[in-house]
Amino acid sequence: CYSVAMAKIELRPLGNTGLKVSSVGFGASPLGSVLSQATEDDVIATVRHAFQLGINFFDTSPYYGGTLSEKMLGKALKALHVPRSDYIVATKCGRYKEGFDFSAERVRKSIDESLERLQLDYLDILHCHDIEFGSLDQIVSETIPALQKLKQEGKTKFIGITGLPLNIFTYVLDRVPPGTVDVILSYCHYGMNDTTLFDLLPYLKSKGVGVISAAPLAMGLLTEQGPHERHPAPQELKSACKAAASHCKTKGKKITKLALQYSLGNKEISSVLVGMSSVSQVEENVAAVTELQGLGIDQETLSEVKAILEPVKNLTWPSGIEQK
Ligand code: NAD
Repeated sequence: CYSVAMAKIELRPLGNTGLKVSSVGFGASPLGSVLSQATEDDVIATVRHAFQLGINFFDTSPYYGGTLSEKMLGKALKALHVPRSDYIVATKCGRYKEGFDFSAERVRKSIDESLERLQLDYLDILHCHDIEFGSLDQIVSETIPALQKLKQEGKTKFIGITGLPLNIFTYVLDRVPPGTVDVILSYCHYGMNDTTLFDLLPYLKSKGVGVISAAPLAMGLLTEQGPHERHPAPQELKSACKAAASHCKTKGKKITKLALQYSLGNKEISSVLVGMSSVSQVEENVAAVTELQGLGIDQETLSEVKAILEPVKNLTWPSGIEQK
């Protein structure tokens, strides 16, 4: 019954990679921190449920849970007992619990460690993780060339870069040969409170670069339970998102559904990564996608929420080091 279920979520082409990723991707960062509440079996069931409902794209990093996310995702993918080509795995390099290291030597070691934890022979995508914390010139002259060698060796099929400030993408893409960086992963810049990624989409398309957008719930800001206490957003943004969430709750609506549906609305974005840590969250999020494909978004609640968020529109927070 996989094929019937899998027809439900739209697959979108990812830039020039030839990959077709589910419009919603599985963000595995929570897998690194849920073990206090969830058992390993719960994690395996969550990933299996996502896959069975048509999610074929899984995103992790050695940084998440200090390597735990990769280990858990590896176990869960193995337990699917399906051919490797049925799912697409992205992990990252350069950011670790111990700090940042984008040197060629470290990223070469990193991919072998990740492959072992994930129990895989190759990655679909290897991203440089949060490059604004490194020297962008080192990313261009050392890290990406090292990743290209790994691509030639068949350890990763494609190369990506991730981070918060949008100008890091143009800085790097303007300085590497075309086709060197296959994808970018942006986060918190295409959602109900912040749509600044929108203006960059034509540029990315002209470069043939695939676009992944993460954190449609603004890392928990656009949820009923709210974000974790160390969320980096300014208080003004936190308060407005809280007000938007309670408005939805009063109306009997789910802000998570609205937020995810909003982020999915732009087809130039190949996949929207949502962090999911339970079977019920997977179910809710997949239902939001399939409902959007059938019925469309609740325009009335969306305009009310947009009005609440208007004073903080596109408000973000600093990330990274000063570039020389
Ligand atoms: P998100 O906006 O996807 O929010 C996830 C949070 O919302 C989690 O705490 C989750 O438990 C909760 N949630 C999910 N579905 C829910 C539902 N239906 N109801 C209530 N709560 C729900 O933020 P995120 O997890 O930080 O980002 C998604 C993924 O994108 C990450 O897991 C990671 O894989 C990737 N990401 C990458 C980078 C980067 O490369 N720099 C940055 C951010 C995110």
